[in-house]
Amino acid sequence: MSTRTVSRTIEPKIVIEGAGVKLRRSISPQRSNLFDPFLLFDHFIFQDPIEGPIAGFPYHPHRGIETVTYMLSGSTHHRDSLGNAGLIGPGDVQWMTSGRGILHEEMPRRDSNGQVDGFQLWVNLPKARKMVPPRYQEISTFNIPEIANSGITVRVIAGEVSGTQGPVTEIAAHPLYIDLTLEAGVSFTHFIPVDHTVIAYVFDGSCRFGTLGDIVSSVCLAVLGKGEHIGIHSDNGVRLMLISGAPFGEPIMPYGPFVMNTKEEIQQALQDLREGTFVDPSPV
Ligand code: MN
Repeated sequence: MSTRTVSRTIEPKIVIEGAGVKLRRSISPQRSNLFDPFLLFDHFIFQDPIEGPIAGFPYHPHRGIETVTYMLSGSTHHRDSLGNAGLIGPGDVQWMTSGRGILHEEMPRRDSNGQVDGFQLWVNLPKARKMVPPRYQEISTFNIPEIANSGITVRVIAGEVSGTQGPVTEIAAHPLYIDLTLEAGVSFTHFIPVDHTVIAYVFDGSCRFGTLGDIVSSVCLAVLGKGEHIGIHSDNGVRLMLISGAPFGEPIMPYGPFVMNTKEEIQQALQDLREGTFVDPSPV
């Protein structure tokens, strides 16, 4: 039985996106597609008064991907070209399948303590599903199952842990997406298919992956190698987002908020935007 060990660690870089939002970005879409099926992982964190005002992400398009927003504190207000609008609050998740096209706005808001803390993950769609109608799965924090046992606390957003199924379903990449907290001296073991990609974003404390692994300290994205299971041990306590999914093995062509398979499909997306046909006007 082989344990997955860390193949690479990535220290997030501070980038400015949208209308001046400061982010910690660990990975972003690249043609090399090294983290297939995952494309991007951003951590937006603000603590008043250090970071100044938050401008947010004014109207922008997406095509060919899924964007997953999970908030820890503060909230994100969103509205889109389909007429949807709402607030993603602390502990809530929005799993947005852009499919053929969506135009939306995402505006982070501080809580009463001046805090905003959350993540956005981009998951690829396979060629056969890049042009499906857009779909939202919006899950309130109260509907995300939390397992707390022997120093392990798991919030299951997608996938299954110890027989508990996350509320986000029917995602092409068959993802596991969990918010995992281990108390000091506690270990966590989880089995996933050998060929799935695994990344872990350690944002509080430290841990090791595999019994002989080096210590990974926050804030850091760890990319795990292949193996039959994930084994995490924390001497001093840790909180991390654990993410796995089935790679599609298809070439990708990223361009800003679009990720397609070919250059022609990117040109088509840009043409659709110019001609006003980007968002499918026919009823879903
Ligand atoms: Mn967006």
